[in-house]
Amino acid sequence: MPLDLSFLETCSEKVQNKIRNIIDQGELDAYIKDLYPEIHNISTDKALFAYAQEIRKKYMRKAPPAHKVVFDDGDDNVYNGLGDNINELILTDNGHKIKNVIRISSLFKSAPLELFHMVLVHELAHLKERDHSKNFFRLCQHMDDDYEQHEFDLHLFLISKGY
Ligand SMILES: [Zn+2]
Repeated sequence: MPLDLSFLETCSEKVQNKIRNIIDQGELDAYIKDLYPEIHNISTDKALFAYAQEIRKKYMRKAPPAHKVVFDDGDDNVYNGLGDNINELILTDNGHKIKNVIRISSLFKSAPLELFHMVLVHELAHLKERDHSKNFFRLCQHMDDDYEQHEFDLHLFLISKGY
């Protein structure tokens, strides 16, 4: 399957050529490692939940809580399954209870810290803003100064991992 590079269309021709060149030369992996040398060490659901809670406490005190934040091994279409935000209906002794569950694709266990952070920030922002509205992206940028750049580099990271 040919690579989908349509996300490059927002860039200048110069940047597009640079990226295409890096991909053609098989140097994308090294390029990403160079940009993002720091790999995080969050690999358990417990650590993931704690990390998400930290971000929430810092930036989104008034937003609805995330009851569960977990890594997900499901390998559905990766572009739709990077992260997910679902309401889980939980049966309790005194009825039903809705829980907000965030799932982060397991592939981010071995992602650069900044890109892992960006995906998590995206899902956390959905607790407050359902749609990809202006307010949504403002909130994302509030939690990640370089959100847009990280979103762009996320494409490159996925390509480098063979997605
Ligand atoms: Zn989204």
